[in-house]
Amino acid sequence: MADAVDVVDGLVSAADGLKSAGKPRTIIAVNPEKVIRARNHQALMDSLRAAALLIPDGIGIVWAARILGLGRMRRVPGSELMPALCERAAKRGYRVFLFGASPQTNARAAEALRERYSGLQIVGHQHGYLSQDDMDGLVRRINDCQADILFVALGSPKQEMWMARYLPTLSVKVCQGVGGTFDVVAGHARRAPRVFRTLNLEWLYRLLSQPSRILRQTALPKFVWQVFCEKLRHW
Ligand code: UDP
Repeated sequence: MADAVDVVDGLVSAADGLKSAGKPRTIIAVNPEKVIRARNHQALMDSLRAAALLIPDGIGIVWAARILGLGRMRRVPGSELMPALCERAAKRGYRVFLFGASPQTNARAAEALRERYSGLQIVGHQHGYLSQDDMDGLVRRINDCQADILFVALGSPKQEMWMARYLPTLSVKVCQGVGGTFDVVAGHARRAPRVFRTLNLEWLYRLLSQPSRILRQTALPKFVWQVFCEKLRHW
């Protein structure tokens, strides 16, 4: 987590040093479900490949990386990285914009972050249920308030598709797709209790508390299978 925060901080300050900021750099959380979806979703795969930083959001990714000899790492949940970046932004004076979630959640998340991190400059926020016609106006607003970091909370793959489409016209330096994080920050959704998190069973908690997610979690066995196949291919 500390490394991830430093990397993002480095991306923002590197962009600060450039006269003409290039295309914003992206941070995308990876979990087994996203990997499985990306195999049949070229645009999602492209956005993963183009990201400046992929964070191992789920324990499945940490496990797969180890099995495939890609390195040892610890989980960096997107829902923890986002507030950690806000804490760093408050210290460094970076300007933050929050886009996504319901109107109540979006407003409450902005309020909660301002209360939690004194001096945090949330220069704008916008709920995630805008019509397509309003998107150009939103891009202008984000650019006008000179945000450095944009958090996009539209769920996956919607947020990755939004980022791929609009980032070329945005002047932010860094953009993180944060899924349901505003709901957690606003206190409208709970993270798994500590015991589930310590045992790396957050996925099980989400499944038990929202059984409707069962369809999404069918990706897990597919992911395990694919990892073993990949391992055998390079045996
Ligand atoms: N959302 C949104 N606009 C949409 C669809 C979804 O702002 O058109 C928000 C939704 O209100 C929620 C978040 O996106 O706050 C999705 O949360 P979820 O936990 O489903 O994200 P994921 O599991 O995909 O990371």
